[in-house]
Amino acid sequence: MREIVVVGGGVIGLSTSILLAKKGYRVTIIERNRVGCEASSKNAGLVVPAMYSPYPLSLDYIKTMKMMINGASPVKISPVRMGCRWIRHVLKNRGELARDTRWKSLRREGRLAIEIIRAFIHEMDVDCRYNEGSILEIYTDEDYLGEAVKHARDVEADGLKIEILDGDEMRELEPGLSTSIIGGLRYVYDASLDPEAYITGLRKLAEKEGVHVIEGVEVEGFKEDLDVKVFSRRETFKCDYLVLANGPWIRDLLRRVGYDIMIHPARGYVITLKMDEGRTLRYPLMIEEAKVVALPLGETIRLAGIMDFIGYDTRVPYRRLEKLLSKVYSQVPILEGLKTIDTRTAFRPCTPDEIPVIGFLPGSEKVLVAGGHCRFGLTFSGITGLIVSQLIAGEETVIDTEVFSPSRLM
Ligand SMILES: Cc1cc2nc3c(=O)[nH]c(=O)nc-3n(C[C@H](O)[C@H](O)[C@H](O)COP(=O)(O)OP(=O)(O)OC[C@H]3O[C@@H](n4cnc5c(N)ncnc54)[C@H](O)[C@@H]3O)c2cc1C
Repeated sequence: MREIVVVGGGVIGLSTSILLAKKGYRVTIIERNRVGCEASSKNAGLVVPAMYSPYPLSLDYIKTMKMMINGASPVKISPVRMGCRWIRHVLKNRGELARDTRWKSLRREGRLAIEIIRAFIHEMDVDCRYNEGSILEIYTDEDYLGEAVKHARDVEADGLKIEILDGDEMRELEPGLSTSIIGGLRYVYDASLDPEAYITGLRKLAEKEGVHVIEGVEVEGFKEDLDVKVFSRRETFKCDYLVLANGPWIRDLLRRVGYDIMIHPARGYVITLKMDEGRTLRYPLMIEEAKVVALPLGETIRLAGIMDFIGYDTRVPYRRLEKLLSKVYSQVPILEGLKTIDTRTAFRPCTPDEIPVIGFLPGSEKVLVAGGHCRFGLTFSGITGLIVSQLIAGEETVIDTEVFSPSRLM
């Protein structure tokens, strides 16, 4: 039986391992800390292929610069930390992604992306609070809403469905919204879940499929020969294939063996609020002008947002968060005054074109990268696992993988 080592026990590593084990491979996950301890459990829980549009295309640079100056921006970029190469790439990508639309293949396979996650949940004995069929995206500003409507039409052409609603229709669905909401979108096929419960379920499922999970061991390097040797401080693991699924730290690991790939961390936050009796949200909300998601999880509400390209800085910018939250409360007043239970930092693994990296390292037939999904790692975790398992098995992949090639970022 062929042996596979997967580095990283996040949602990508776990999903990939399950699908590889189902194909009959013997899989070991090596996780330096605890399974799911990074962004994979600290995210907004949305499975939203219909929202996918890479940020170089969707980011309004002028509005973002203005927001960065007034200190209440959901996005922050440190040119010093990111470097000229990354900034050049982001700027260049805007035109390229508009011309070369192969990135849309991910969105077109959006139903499959959801189906794989649904099938995993079906096999689990963990309640992930999985819901399909209604995520609301709300707007107070005509310009932003106009852009959203264009996005909805574009997405429909890719076979997914988004409804366009006015302010009253929005409030009918979600009475907790303020009268400042002029309209928005309802994502009809997309889904939401409890990220922590989902990770627990994935781990159990992986172990049920025979995946060996090792925690507390950091992979420090690897060497490819007739087989692949994977090094940690105390032990060397041998395998036939190695999958690097260790989030933004893929770059650090690859640097140790002589590659420089542009996968960078983008800092975000999740804030847990305790719901008062009688106050609740019916649906997950995307408060787009603040770029904050509000996800109802029973007794609590999870707010998730902020995207900072400033390296691995774990300090919490409380004043900025306060300003952003006041924007959220002005649009969703029933959230105001709820008790904050905790605030946690997480790092999305981001590429400068926001297209993930899925494929063999240049010149290698044994070492693959699976990462760099940025804001959509949960959404595309199942389909990434499927593609990796097809690449390793030498099968035709569901999506042409050239668009995901690691070499474009080296
Ligand atoms: C605030 C926020 C909200 C988000 N909301 C959504 C959302 O609604 N929908 C969505 O689709 N996506 C969302 N995302 C993005 C999503 O969470 C990430 O894209 C996804 O979790 C990345 O998963 P991963 O497995 O690649 O990486 P990670 O979760 O970072 O996992 C990598 C693992 O590798 C381990 N590791 C690192 N280096 C080593 C090493 N050398 N040896 C061994 N182990 C190692 C780490 O400890 C970690 O456990 C959000 C992210 C954030 C921060």
